[in-house]
Amino acid sequence: MNDSAEGGTPAGAGPTDTDWAAALAAVRGLPADARVQLICHVNPDGDALGTMLGFGLGLRRLGVRQLRATFPGPPVLPEPFRWLPGLELLVPQDDAYPEPDLVICFDVASEYRLGDLADRLDKAGTALVLDHHASNTRFGGIHLVDPHAAATSVVAQELLDRLGVPLDAEIATCFYVALSTDTGSFRFEATTPAVHRLAARLLATGIRPGDISRRIFDTRPFGAVRLFGEVLLRARLEPAAAAGRGLVWTYATRADLARHDQPAYVLEALIDSVRCTAEADVSCVVKQVDTAEWAVSLRSKGAVDVSAVAVALGGGGHRFAAGFTGRGTVDEVVDRIRGELAGALLPG
Ligand code: 5GP
Ligand code: MN
Repeated sequence: MNDSAEGGTPAGAGPTDTDWAAALAAVRGLPADARVQLICHVNPDGDALGTMLGFGLGLRRLGVRQLRATFPGPPVLPEPFRWLPGLELLVPQDDAYPEPDLVICFDVASEYRLGDLADRLDKAGTALVLDHHASNTRFGGIHLVDPHAAATSVVAQELLDRLGVPLDAEIATCFYVALSTDTGSFRFEATTPAVHRLAARLLATGIRPGDISRRIFDTRPFGAVRLFGEVLLRARLEPAAAAGRGLVWTYATRADLARHDQPAYVLEALIDSVRCTAEADVSCVVKQVDTAEWAVSLRSKGAVDVSAVAVALGGGGHRFAAGFTGRGTVDEVVDRIRGELAGALLPG
């Protein structure tokens, strides 16, 4: 996922000096009464929210007063995030500035992931995009997109550095949530020496990593534990899929959630239990959003480029962690995935 451990930026990757200069000018040039709208992707995860709120707190420290943060969809935050510093910046999408002077998008790979807020790209004076998806469609005006960054927070932390905003414990807490989410708690390939140096700077502010990790990753209602049991029991292993690399998959319906009285966000952690399966390179969880609409999570251990699968089916993501919205029945959605797997094998 990240192979630029040390040394220079690989050709064609990451923001150029011109991009950084444009981003700095966009922030530094804001008039005192400027309205700044921060937006992260629909169904926000730790990187999206943590980066947006951490950067928002940084802008506050710079004296930006008219500052709102939001994400598309219902204004309901998953319980594990309801203690993050900077939550006071969050507003429902309906209360986002209609015509902000500056809009900043976090962890958003394509316009589609902005939902009803995509119109702000045209209505804003300037649209700045901070992201780390290789599949980023460059839908803004200024792009700080680094596909070699382990999380969007890496880009945001560098921008705050360049703006001269000192890290404090609140900003660090937000960025630590982002960085530990997208590196799978520093387990994934993207966990480079540079990532650990960033984490060291965050920890040096005095934040408590044990506390943060327990709240974000290791706490769920008992009903969710039982729901996971049921959903994992129906997992299917297909050793022949992906040209013999293997596929393991399961699904969860809205009825499953209702039976255990659980909100949809609890299913975000499900893929981590499924992807343990030794016999499969590719893992997949199909989560019902509407009658015939499913949010699909894909993971690979390295043999298959699941972002290619997701892009082919209308979504996006990273090589080893991607997703898309599937339509029809579960079987139809999984069938389409099977059909893309063999074509997405990585060399070697
Ligand atoms: P997750 O499975 O955790 O929801 O998402 C894994 C990765 O795939 C994330 O980087 C996320 O941005 C991307 N992703 C998930 N769903 C979609 C989608 O519907 N569209 C796009 N473009 N990317 C997605
Ligand atoms: Mn991310």
